[in-house]
Amino acid sequence: MPSWWKGKAPPGESAEQTARRLSIQQKHRAADRKKRRAHGAVARAIRQGKLSRPSLCEECGSPNQLEAHHDDYAQPLQVIWLCKFCHAKRLPHYKSTWLKQ
Ligand SMILES: [Zn+2]
Repeated sequence: MPSWWKGKAPPGESAEQTARRLSIQQKHRAADRKKRRAHGAVARAIRQGKLSRPSLCEECGSPNQLEAHHDDYAQPLQVIWLCKFCHAKRLPHYKSTWLKQ
């Protein structure tokens, strides 16, 4: 994450660019909050026995590193269980980071 992310404007930024940048940041933060809440709800539901974590990836059948994938964070308990690799394939922003490996 660039250093200006935490509120510092990059050099030469116009007022209009600042406004655009801040609105993008707000969107990201709102999305992060929803995501955290959804993940918390899944963890809680598992602890309470309302949701069970399967042993295999729903897409490829791999038993490794299953993660809960949310199609919609507004439905925190509607999850698809995917291995780390299948999960990454569904999340466009993951691709650039570790699908290359
Ligand atoms: Zn998989």
